[in-house]
Amino acid sequence: MKRSQLFLPTIKDMPAEAEIISHQLMLRAGLIRRVAAGVYSYLPLGHRVIQKVSQIIREEMNRAGGQELLLPALQPAELWQESGRWEVMGKEMMRLKDRHARDFCLGPTHEEVITDLVRRDIRSYRQLPLTLYQIQTKFRDEIRPRFGLMRGREFIMKDAYSFDRDDTGAEVSYRKMYDAYGAIFSRCGLRYSAVEAESGAIGGSYSQEFMVLADSGEDAVAVCDACRYAANVERAEIAADPGSQPSGLPKSLGRVETPGKMTVEAVAGYLGVPRQTIVKTLLYEVDGQVLAVLVRGDRQVNEAKLAKHLQAGGLRFADRATIERVTGGPEGFSGPIGLRSVPLWADQELRGMRNVVVGANAADAHYVNANNERDFSVDRYLDVRMVSEDDPCARCGKPLRIVRGIEVGHVFKVGTKYSESMDATYLDANGAEHPVVMGCYGIGVGRTAAAAIEQHHDAEGIIWPLPIAPLQVMVVPVNVTDNRCWEAAQSIHDTLEACGIEVLLDDRDERPGVKFKDADLIGLPLRVTIGKALAQGQVELMARRVRRTTMVQLEEVGPRLRQIISTGEHAFPELFAS
Ligand SMILES: [Zn+2]
Repeated sequence: MKRSQLFLPTIKDMPAEAEIISHQLMLRAGLIRRVAAGVYSYLPLGHRVIQKVSQIIREEMNRAGGQELLLPALQPAELWQESGRWEVMGKEMMRLKDRHARDFCLGPTHEEVITDLVRRDIRSYRQLPLTLYQIQTKFRDEIRPRFGLMRGREFIMKDAYSFDRDDTGAEVSYRKMYDAYGAIFSRCGLRYSAVEAESGAIGGSYSQEFMVLADSGEDAVAVCDACRYAANVERAEIAADPGSQPSGLPKSLGRVETPGKMTVEAVAGYLGVPRQTIVKTLLYEVDGQVLAVLVRGDRQVNEAKLAKHLQAGGLRFADRATIERVTGGPEGFSGPIGLRSVPLWADQELRGMRNVVVGANAADAHYVNANNERDFSVDRYLDVRMVSEDDPCARCGKPLRIVRGIEVGHVFKVGTKYSESMDATYLDANGAEHPVVMGCYGIGVGRTAAAAIEQHHDAEGIIWPLPIAPLQVMVVPVNVTDNRCWEAAQSIHDTLEACGIEVLLDDRDERPGVKFKDADLIGLPLRVTIGKALAQGQVELMARRVRRTTMVQLEEVGPRLRQIISTGEHAFPELFAS
């Protein structure tokens, strides 16, 4: 392939619209172009990367017993109404009407369509287990699309669905997919971690996310290096014993003026007390009911945990009017004292709280030295807060670390949520009817490519892992107007192509510095430079990752590169040892 003929528009300067490195580099290296917010075109090199990642996914899915199919992006509302998710998906779902005013959506996921497919054609236990998958475009009307392919409104996903007779079978299917995911991300050259996760809108009993660890990641993950416990912070458990507790005897309750001090920081600063001696009172509305939740001033409520305790999905902060009606005071001054009309829950670490500061349910006032049981009474103590770095691991008690991650895959044990609501059943050997037991499994294809760039880049540009690189070798003749140099370059290009190596020949009449800069930006893993040493029959090989170079004889170039590409970097240690 010749550079002059390839549609590969590179950009020298940092694009202003891009906030994270993978987005910047994808634009600069001519992989993608923006069409609308969260909507991108894949240019030839970008498309090649997507195809490479897809092919790795396909091979591992097939190896795990999956069968590929293709479902429609356009889906009728009736299926979503049947599962109960037409409402639940809310504004994230791209909805439209056809010319007969019938409701449709552009699929954000395919549980409904595939459950409908399976319920029509699966009758007997003999047809199970079954795992089906597709690689397809999905749509989600993100409130804030950003980070290029990381959080788009239109994106390419692999989604797989397993159907089993019972939980034992479903567990086997889940395990196969889990193992396949590990193989996929390893083959893509990613450092990843599988973590316990919240199931969210897909629902189900248990799920794990595959996280690529990177500082730009939108997810926070709690990891224990001692016992390997790893969980999304939305999910991470907190040990029931909170450790240190405020000590001392209860002091007498006092009311203090705190004019205009509505936040924990403001109250702590004004009263000259540490934030952890303040207790926040947060009011939530759940199915028309109000609930008050207490957490320490320096903590955050974990709404996913709270929703799980409540067994409710629709949880939101109470509005100003509700707060005033329930507490009798304005927003920012709520507290547990006198708050008798609503249930009062508290995070478990507050069990031994002593002499704390709370809102007085009146404008510009707080109580100091408030004590549970004497001044107010908590109905339930629960784990309702976000884990933090000073929490010990809930499994082994050793310290936790909080790291950032990019979710590239998610595997769910779904159970019978969809098969029951949509009546997908089979008959067992005795003729008894059972709902099929499902699992579902997603991988963001574009996001995986973007995550690879987050992990593999330097100041000059992308450093593609060989298996997903758009092309494998860049051939750079330093002077195309020099006949010997140009002929050698062409000959190397033709030889490599003939032995099945994907090669890009920079045939432009540009200064060497321009070409090298461009080559670094595009980031093909291997480079052949044809320069002065050609007089001695030699050319330079370079590994982009370690930027190490070595000279080889012209006739050695083909065999050496073929060896590296087929057997890996260890085939040529003098080039890759860093
Ligand atoms: Zn641990």
